[in-house]
Amino acid sequence: MSDKYKDISVKQICDVIDMLHPCMDDYVYVYDLQNDYYYISPSAAQRFALPASEFNDVVKNHELFVHPDDIAELKKDLDMITQGKKEFHNLQYRWLSKDKKPIWINCRGFVVSDNGKALYMIGCINEIGTRQMADNISGLLGLSSLKAYFEENFYMMNSGYILRLGIDDFKPINERLGIEYGDMLLKKTADNIANCLYPDQRLYRAMADEFLVIDFANRNVEEALEQYVNIRYSIDKLVEKSRYEAVFTISGGILTSDAYRGCTFSDVMKFSEFALSEAKRGGKNRCWIFNYPAYEKFLKSRRMIQLLRKAVNNDFEGFEAYLQPLFSADTGELYGAESLMRFHTEEFGTVSPNVFIPLLEETCLIIPVGKWMLHKSLELCTEIHKVNPDFKISINISYIQVLKSNIISEILTAVSDYNIIPSTVIIELTESGVLTPDSRVAKLRSRMKEQHISLALDDFGTGYSNFHYFNDLKPDIIKIDRSFTIKAIENDYEFNLLQLMINMAHKMKLRVCVEGVETQQELERIKQLKPDYCQGYYFGRPCPFDEFMNLFVIDKTG
Ligand code: C2E
Ligand code: CA
Ligand code: CA
Repeated sequence: MSDKYKDISVKQICDVIDMLHPCMDDYVYVYDLQNDYYYISPSAAQRFALPASEFNDVVKNHELFVHPDDIAELKKDLDMITQGKKEFHNLQYRWLSKDKKPIWINCRGFVVSDNGKALYMIGCINEIGTRQMADNISGLLGLSSLKAYFEENFYMMNSGYILRLGIDDFKPINERLGIEYGDMLLKKTADNIANCLYPDQRLYRAMADEFLVIDFANRNVEEALEQYVNIRYSIDKLVEKSRYEAVFTISGGILTSDAYRGCTFSDVMKFSEFALSEAKRGGKNRCWIFNYPAYEKFLKSRRMIQLLRKAVNNDFEGFEAYLQPLFSADTGELYGAESLMRFHTEEFGTVSPNVFIPLLEETCLIIPVGKWMLHKSLELCTEIHKVNPDFKISINISYIQVLKSNIISEILTAVSDYNIIPSTVIIELTESGVLTPDSRVAKLRSRMKEQHISLALDDFGTGYSNFHYFNDLKPDIIKIDRSFTIKAIENDYEFNLLQLMINMAHKMKLRVCVEGVETQQELERIKQLKPDYCQGYYFGRPCPFDEFMNLFVIDKTG
């Protein structure tokens, strides 16, 4: 079959490739088997780690840009072709991009021969993975088309905006009503969005359930917001028309051109993804406008999570348990200490737990780190017990640990392993954590009671303080948050309120610890409320173990 083309020379084919390549996304090549010479569309040399768009020593040079794991298979196929055992080459394997990233390609080619002698192979290479140009479900162009549009219109990126739209909770719709229904819904959503476009705007489908409105026509952020509201309204109408078979909403992330001027296409996509995810995180069915400080904060917290993960994998290097003293309000004697976590990093110095605890919770890393803190705190407590056997250690436990780990048995095992008298251990749970009644919290509570481990309700006064918790949870101690303490000191009404609360707690046989006492004056005022314990910078800041021993334990006992 291939003898038909034997009179066409390799040189002529190279000329045709040169003519065609600006019109193609794929790459055409010719492999001259007689002269061991290879020529490919010049655009391939820009995209892949090819030595140039033409080279000799073909098989050897392929090693430069073919994924190392795929070379053997490719060589086998090329051997068969050069030996005349095969006429058609059809292989899916990976090339390396200029920055050495693997890219899946499909390479096909056929051999032109003259009387059984293989002259050359001609064929075409296309990228399989990344280049989805259009989407037949929504009828819209895809991301690679958008990228091309951006590159062509780079000079226009100075004006207008990008509005990324995402259907909220699309997955459950697909699961409940089937993929076909989901596809139909996507199509209708795309049509509805398209109806809300201004004539000079473009609409692309970004991924499964996300769409991008591109405005290069100098519209401003108010107009973007107005457009989002129109789209949301039209989606509401769509849901109504479908008789609420699938009830869904749409969120939007706006990126104005002044925020992405001079950025790469991939950055622009990242920014708009971030804007949309913030809209969803804020409660969905809403719009969020991109701004750099928020994005930088987001990047910083991603970086912090990396560092936290690394520290966990590295035997908790960087974590430390600080101790802050608790004093008995009437005798002024040391009652115990709250154990507070610290995270030291080279990059950010010592990071506040208010920053990293939420990240540990978000990633569930609080489970291993909280367990480490539990052990560390008990270990420090055994040291202090050698000098002061009545000393109490108060350990913070996150609600995530209660819900997602076997915290009850971890506490009981640890207390018994360290041979600590259980009544010297206090577990602090935050008020927000116990807002929703949960059987695990109740179980934790009853097992602790059996073992005489105390429970403190932390952060009291910050949330929806409710005396029901006292009854449901039956804590031993209530810790009044500093924000409430300050209000009580500054304001008579709050002072009386706190007084009432403390009296009521005492009636219920609960003890009260007032947190955040910073000065002598504050202490005098707080003392009038007759709490059981006080904690605050006035008595001592959280500090490392050795310092704590020197300041509060050793000197005091002589
Ligand atoms: P928290 O449990 O309410 O801890 C008391 C916080 O108040 C501590 O902040 C402490 O340093 C601070 N504080 C104490 N006295 C004063 C004062 O007089 N004035 C002021 N302005 N602040 C005072 P820190 O150590 O930054 O911890 C913040 C929060 O991080 C803690 O609040 C707690 O919710 C969380 N946390 C700390 N360590 C752990 C831990 O090991 N596990 C869990 N789950 N959470 C922890
Ligand atoms: Ca606490
Ligand atoms: Ca507290």
